[in-house]
Amino acid sequence: MNEILLKKTRKHRLEQGHPWVYRSEIEKMIGEPQTGEVVLIKNHQGHFLAQGFYHQSSQIAVRVVTYVEKEQVDERWLRERVKTAWQYRKRILRHTASCRAVYGEADGVPGLIVDKYDQVAVVQILSAAMAQRKEWITKALSDTLGVTAIYERSDAPVRALEGLEPETGCLFGTCPEVVQIKENGLLLEINLVEGQKTGHFFDQKENRAAIAPFVRWSVDEKPRPDQHYDESRANLQIPSMRVGAEVLDCFSHTGSFAMHALMYGAARVTLVDSSAVALEQAKVNAKLNGFADRSQFELANAFDYLRKAEQEKMLFDVVILDPPAFAKNKKAVAQALKGYKEINLRGMKLVKDGGFLVTASCSSPVSPQSWFEVMQDAATDAHKILRLIEFRSAGKDHPQLLGMPENDYLKFAIFEVKSRR
Ligand code: SAH
Repeated sequence: MNEILLKKTRKHRLEQGHPWVYRSEIEKMIGEPQTGEVVLIKNHQGHFLAQGFYHQSSQIAVRVVTYVEKEQVDERWLRERVKTAWQYRKRILRHTASCRAVYGEADGVPGLIVDKYDQVAVVQILSAAMAQRKEWITKALSDTLGVTAIYERSDAPVRALEGLEPETGCLFGTCPEVVQIKENGLLLEINLVEGQKTGHFFDQKENRAAIAPFVRWSVDEKPRPDQHYDESRANLQIPSMRVGAEVLDCFSHTGSFAMHALMYGAARVTLVDSSAVALEQAKVNAKLNGFADRSQFELANAFDYLRKAEQEKMLFDVVILDPPAFAKNKKAVAQALKGYKEINLRGMKLVKDGGFLVTASCSSPVSPQSWFEVMQDAATDAHKILRLIEFRSAGKDHPQLLGMPENDYLKFAIFEVKSRR
């Protein structure tokens, strides 16, 4: 088997569980491995470290597939990996009908992502080596997940770095365009063909459930003592005196957060997204759950909408901000932080005193620390005091390799917002 020897001076990221070898870390190659081929990774002294899939031109030269020297990386290897990933979800999750079933590097299968939508598995292949093994993948998934169809949505732009063209289509069974799933008891219709990524963002499922106590207010509830803090003010609004919260959901996509808010008792939700397709799907979801009369849809750039809402002095009990990744790489971080500051500053100004800001960032190059700093900056400028009620990350079906900062991408927080003056 061909071998890769690593430089003596490299950082010991591989030993810490980081599953990639960058081209700049390679000292020497023994043989001429082709893209997709399995190679042995050794340190500068020739000690075995791992086996991995080689790529001839990508900056990620090798992706680790096993730390066992004698393991055969064959069809059986893939089936075992898929089985292990699935058994983990079966053991840990309460509901496995619809969830992320396989999560790439974190499940030991670099470049392979599988989301299960009830009877249909949607596959996203992001590495050349996995693209060469599509038949193994199809077989392993149909044998393991008990699905009747497998649809490929390999149209993510990052595939270009591996020299791959977009590929979509039915790999197994009869693939429906649209499926219905249940999430936390809510019905959601997902378009597997037209939807963003694989159709739905499962990573925030547990975070969507976490908003329940913040949107569910009833008239019977007496204000709690801590809500008397600014009773002397004439314009005081005590959220708990209302029946259900007024909610703004910016970057709503197909309305997953908005529909959760309505299910948990929100009086009304305004959904804002710049994608007409996503908003149409959100309308379908509102009807499906009987929430149409409590939903309002705004096709708009969220930055513009937030500015306009502020000018018009609109106020909400809860504002939700779940934007797309503003930074996909380190170079984009500074600009992304400005974006996060702007939406959060404007968003918190729209929150009634004592209400809540539900906010997220899925940019992996933005650390939780710098994101919190941005939140603090925004609060200072907006004359608000934020109280952190919950901080969460991606759900249990998106486990993170601790040694791989790239997969620690999601930051989700619920803040109480009070005015400083
Ligand atoms: N909250 C959603 C996921 C949001 S994904 C959920 O839980 O499912 C980000 C969304 O932001 C996408 O739907 C995208 O269409 C939308 N978007 C991107 N840029 C935008 C902008 N400038 N203004 C409004 N929406 C935008």
